[in-house]
Amino acid sequence: MTSDSFTALLDRNQSFAEQFDAGDLAIRPRMSTIILTCLDARVDPAHLFGLGLGDALVIRNAGGWITPAVLRDLAILGVLAANMPGPSAMQLELVVVHHTDCGMARLANPAIQQQAADRLGLSVDEVAAMAITDPAKSVQDDIERLRQTPGTPDQLVVSGFVYDVKNGTINQVVPPAPLRATT
Ligand SMILES: [Zn+2]
Repeated sequence: MTSDSFTALLDRNQSFAEQFDAGDLAIRPRMSTIILTCLDARVDPAHLFGLGLGDALVIRNAGGWITPAVLRDLAILGVLAANMPGPSAMQLELVVVHHTDCGMARLANPAIQQQAADRLGLSVDEVAAMAITDPAKSVQDDIERLRQTPGTPDQLVVSGFVYDVKNGTINQVVPPAPLRATT
C-alpha cells in the first residue's frame, strides 16, 4: 500500500467514525448467512448485496474457493453459532459466490502455474485446480467437493452463485439446499 492509500484510508475512517452510530450492534448478525467470495476489489459483498454493518458474515480469499482455511472457519462458526446468545440457535447458511473475469483465471496459464507452484510449494496440478476460467462450473465443483468432505455438517444449507462484474448481476448456479439429505 502506498502512503497515499494509507492516508486515504485513515481519512475515510475518520469520516466514518464521526458519523458512527452502530455501537449497540449485537454480535449475532441479522442474517444467518456466511458469504464466501473472492477478494477482488470489484466483488465486495457489502456493495453486491447492500449489506450494512451487522448484517452478515463474510469470508474472502483468492477466487472464493472453499479451502481448508475456510473449512476451519466454518467449523469455528458452527461452534460459536451453537452457543450464540439469542432466542434460538443460529442455523447458518453458506453462500458461495465466484465471479466473471476472476484473476484466478490466470492460473490456467502454464508459466504462471509454475511460478505459483514454486511459491506455494504445490504441484502444478494442484495450482491448475485453483484456476477459475468458468465460474459457473467452479462454484458447482467447489460445492460438490464440500458435499464429499467428511465431517462437514449435513444440515448446512449451501448455495452457489456467479457474479458478473460487467453488469452487477448475480446468477444462481446451485440452489440453496442442505449439504446432505438426512434419512
Ligand atoms: Zn476473483
